[in-house]
Amino acid sequence: AEPLLTATGLRKSYGPTPALDGADFSIRPGEVVAVMGPSGSGKSTLLHCLAGIVRADAGDVRYDGRSMAGMSDGERSALRRADFGFVFQFGQLVPELTCLENVAMPMRLSGTKRRAAEKQAALWLDRLEVADVAGKRPGEVSGGQGQRVAVARALVSGPRVVFADEPTGALDSLNGERVMRLLTEAAHDTRAAVVLVTHEARVAAYSDREIVVRDGKSRDMERAA
Ligand code: ADP
Ligand code: ADP
Repeated sequence: AEPLLTATGLRKSYGPTPALDGADFSIRPGEVVAVMGPSGSGKSTLLHCLAGIVRADAGDVRYDGRSMAGMSDGERSALRRADFGFVFQFGQLVPELTCLENVAMPMRLSGTKRRAAEKQAALWLDRLEVADVAGKRPGEVSGGQGQRVAVARALVSGPRVVFADEPTGALDSLNGERVMRLLTEAAHDTRAAVVLVTHEARVAAYSDREIVVRDGKSRDMERAA
């Protein structure tokens, strides 16, 4: 298949030492790619540049044939809302809303009526095996349940790329594996690509391919093999 997301020569510095010092690789539709490396190696910076959250100093990201370097901030944020989903380590659910309302939120923001959005949200909660927490607030559910709600929210709008930064970092291994299994199954079913930042080999084992980042330099294990 044609690549969906291609990084070429990405560089980003916050100070004298580059956080990202050249990233070159492509991700195809439906592919689950793990970005691995030690703490501080530039994984999150790479994810932020790929997702258009942070503007790289040099290089480009092409998404679906379009150059992200050439987009305005408004165009990049519209693209993120329309085509990307996000899962972070924690703190991403709105505490005042129920889990169902949290999952329905991205659809509500893009103009879907409440009934239709909540119906779709309920389907995704069921699929992530957390239908029972629909009416609870994030503070009333376990960490593993909360992360499954967050995955449901990331997937509800049918994104073509899901960016996940240490999505299991705050979970024990059993809950972490359950989140990874459900995330990768749902991504494969919907042909969403997943960019998964992790420092844990057990989490990366759920990916189709690994990109290893060290001192801001990325190495594509598929091409290396
Ligand atoms: P990782 O995700 O692998 O832990 P990061 O991408 O978060 O690595 O960080 C890479 C380097 O860039 C680190 O030295 C980090 O302190 C620095 N860095 C990341 N984001 C910022 C920022 N917003 N401002 C200043 N330095 C940053
Ligand atoms: P991670 O654990 O995913 O590497 P961090 O805790 O390092 O995340 O960073 C969290 C946020 O803070 C990110 O948005 C990152 O860009 C930013 N950040 C990281 N390091 C620095 C830094 N030295 N100065 C300012 N912001 C930073």
